[in-house]
Amino acid sequence: MDGARAGAVAKIAAVKTVTRFAPSPNGHLHLGHAYSAILAHDLALADGGEFLLRIEDIDGPRSRPEFAEEFRRDLEWLGLEWTEVPAQSTRIGSYHAAADRLIAAGMLYPCTCTRKDIESLGARRGADGLIYPGTCKGRLLKPGEPAALRLDVDKAMAALGELVWTDEVTGASVADPREFGDVVIVRKDLPASYHLAATIDDAADGVTLVTRGADLFAATHIHRILQELLELPVPHWHHHELLLDNDGRKLAKRRGSPALSQRREAGENGLALAEQLRLQQMQSGT
Ligand code: GLU
Ligand code: ZN
Repeated sequence: MDGARAGAVAKIAAVKTVTRFAPSPNGHLHLGHAYSAILAHDLALADGGEFLLRIEDIDGPRSRPEFAEEFRRDLEWLGLEWTEVPAQSTRIGSYHAAADRLIAAGMLYPCTCTRKDIESLGARRGADGLIYPGTCKGRLLKPGEPAALRLDVDKAMAALGELVWTDEVTGASVADPREFGDVVIVRKDLPASYHLAATIDDAADGVTLVTRGADLFAATHIHRILQELLELPVPHWHHHELLLDNDGRKLAKRRGSPALSQRREAGENGLALAEQLRLQQMQSGT
């Protein structure tokens, strides 16, 4: 992006709502994704803002371009229009730069523990798996050593003090990383974690309102801390309720929720489906 365009985008971001839908191309989209995308689209369009599509494909081996292509057709079928921003795989340099900055600030430490090691320490279960008990805290990074990099959350919180963030549905929250603990910020096998990449990209894309499912509510505490450490602008969030399947369980690719692409290819009317989801949104209020 050249300087003039960057300036123009910044100006829009200051006054208009910019939302995004950020799917990972490692499987088909299902109804829950449609709900999320429509909500993000409608919230942006409601005040003449912009709805972005960002393909979150840093997980190289699991990401497949044919899924990204399928996502575009699915969104079109639902009647949505969007601006696509560069996929995460093209932004690796910005993740490295941010990680370097966090390392220089002493906020990350290397960890070579396996899942088994962590299990054997009797770690408590948190929002996203076991909470790391901090065995490697204080270790220094040896050049070339394959290690994950973890955030020293106690150190970060001590340096930053109280951080508040605002969800349009639930109101203000104080950032509380306890459900994650010393979360992995740079994976051993990848240039970033979801947390780091999504936080950096939302800022780079001028997103003013991060919309996503309530299953990622706890992750926002970590994102808020990363924003502060990296001096990024702080958006608002809108975590929406999750659609449930007939058994009352969260819809999930792995439990075989019907893919949008399957419904599309079977000739279902996508616009009618979108209207049905909008009604559901009005009823739930989120
Ligand atoms: N790539 C993430 C996912 O598909 C996006 C989460 C987010 O919206 O922040 O779950
Ligand atoms: Zn460790």
